[in-house]
Amino acid sequence: SMASPALLMRVVASAYSVAEKAATIVRNVMATGDLGIVEKTGANDLQTKADRLVQMSICASLSRKFPKVTIIGEEELPTDEVTEELIEDGHCEEILKKTCPAQYTGIKEEELVIWVDPLDGTKEYTEGLLDHVTVLIGIAYGGKAIAGVINQPYYNYEAGADAVLGRTIWGVLGIGAFGFQLTEAPAGKHIIVTTRSHSSTLVNDCISALNPDSVIRVGGAGNKIIQLIEGKASAYVFASPGCKKWDTCAPEAILHAVGGKITDIHGNSFQYNKEVKHMNSAGVLASLRNYDYYASRIPNTVKQSLVP
Ligand code: AMP
Ligand code: MG
Ligand code: MG
Repeated sequence: SMASPALLMRVVASAYSVAEKAATIVRNVMATGDLGIVEKTGANDLQTKADRLVQMSICASLSRKFPKVTIIGEEELPTDEVTEELIEDGHCEEILKKTCPAQYTGIKEEELVIWVDPLDGTKEYTEGLLDHVTVLIGIAYGGKAIAGVINQPYYNYEAGADAVLGRTIWGVLGIGAFGFQLTEAPAGKHIIVTTRSHSSTLVNDCISALNPDSVIRVGGAGNKIIQLIEGKASAYVFASPGCKKWDTCAPEAILHAVGGKITDIHGNSFQYNKEVKHMNSAGVLASLRNYDYYASRIPNTVKQSLVP
């Protein structure tokens, strides 16, 4: 008989279905019209009912199946009983059919850390910029992002009634990434994607120093990595604190699975062990194919302003 699939593949296969359930919750909350917005640290740091329900759904569903895995989610919630209707028990069969890379076959539950951003791009969600929103489930082992799921609940929402709404992108280092068409950005053009709701003088000065052909300002860390892997932008540049480990873990795994690179603005790789500081204090720099070009042009003055 066939050996049962490796733990990592079972976790990714479950995370895929859990992220699809999350997307349904995100769309349902918006459809009710009552977002239940709460300010966390201020007006640019919001939480909605969707952030809360999705965090409960993802964390409860995964911890029920994988009780010894460490799960770190963005939202602080009361420790209420999670209602059964929020639990997702399914998994993606197609993922279970893939062969787990040899270096990951022996992983045990207690060695995995799952970083959850239940709703990335909350500010944009509240403003109706719905395709900026993603659900992020990143899986780390040995401090590294090795697998991830990005669900985009409103992919295609402006493409007409015939288009399938929403999609799920997933990836594992050593296997690749799926659920989208890998596309390189236009050759010889420097198109930078950055924040739209968390700009600062430093963020803008850093972009200016790179002398880009154009700048795309959109919400969400997940959304910006999608811009890179679909060839809409050549680099993601964010010279500011603000982004957290749950913002970068799933995007990093997917970007690295297709040969891209993401670091802080100094070029330091991110660490995802459970003890790590949540804040990515020294910003974000990422590219699918041209990382070194951008890294070599970040001004020293910008680097000196951002302490890791
Ligand atoms: P953005 O590119 O502005 O959408 O930011 C990407 C992620 O980092 C989102 O989850 C934001 O909520 C988070 N983020 C970035 N800057 C800040 C900030 N100044 N305060 C709170 N969250 C931030
Ligand atoms: Mg986020
Ligand atoms: Mg969030």
